[in-house]
Amino acid sequence: MTGTELEGRTAVVTGGGRGIGRNIALGLAAEGANVVLAARSEDEITNVADVVRERGGEAIAVSADVTATEDVGTLFERARESFGQVDLLVNNAGTAAHGNTWELSDEEWTRVIDVNLNGTFRCTREALNGGMLERGEGTIVNVGSLTGKIGFAGTSAYGASKHGIQGLTNTLAKELKDSDVRVHTVCPGQVRTEMTDDIAEIDRLEPDDVTDIVVFLATRPARAYIPEVVVVPPDTIPVV
Ligand code: NAD
Repeated sequence: MTGTELEGRTAVVTGGGRGIGRNIALGLAAEGANVVLAARSEDEITNVADVVRERGGEAIAVSADVTATEDVGTLFERARESFGQVDLLVNNAGTAAHGNTWELSDEEWTRVIDVNLNGTFRCTREALNGGMLERGEGTIVNVGSLTGKIGFAGTSAYGASKHGIQGLTNTLAKELKDSDVRVHTVCPGQVRTEMTDDIAEIDRLEPDDVTDIVVFLATRPARAYIPEVVVVPPDTIPVV
């Protein structure tokens, strides 16, 4: 444990078993947050929950597929049973399909939209209806991508899903403007994780670079609306 800024707060992190999600979960736990880890693979999230506990924090692992509305309901129920309420949601679960747009099957397109965009919608709706709206406060951080802003050849379903997340975020900001519920999208450039193992390497970020921004947004609830934060390596000129 390193800080106490999120002591007593509870964070749900989807896709929290590896890569960026794992890093975000450990970063939030290091600030004192109780962490609820969700992913389809139970082994990965159980392992991260063990690491949080070894470091003196509180965590539970809930096997959940963000494409299944019932799983998402169970995830938030388990979070509330264990920790009372959910203060922070990080919509990080994501997947990609590679190939030119005209080569993608219906299944590939739909799978990516369903995990990345529809999954973000399902979890967000559950977090809002499950307490944030009633309390009038909470923080939701969506993990978007630079690809959703500027495009990247061979990733159209992915880019469209991430662009959609920005549309969702901007709409929620207007719907929630009279409350203290904040919704943000963090748009990283390429990050060194399993997701990028098999694609051409460009100047890469580390998961820590994304976690730093998520922790910042979670620990300093802004009065002003911060719709999105673009995170790229220092030498990259973002074309946004
Ligand atoms: P990753 O493949 O290592 O991790 C993805 C996580 O999402 C895994 O834990 C996986 O189990 C989970 N997941 C996938 N489908 C799921 C589902 N249906 N239900 C629940 N969980 C599911 O990838 P990563 O690089 O750590 O990416 C994490 C997030 O960051 C994604 O949203 C990704 O789009 C985004 N992102 C990644 C990069 C990058 O370069 N790696 C750049 C920008 C944004």
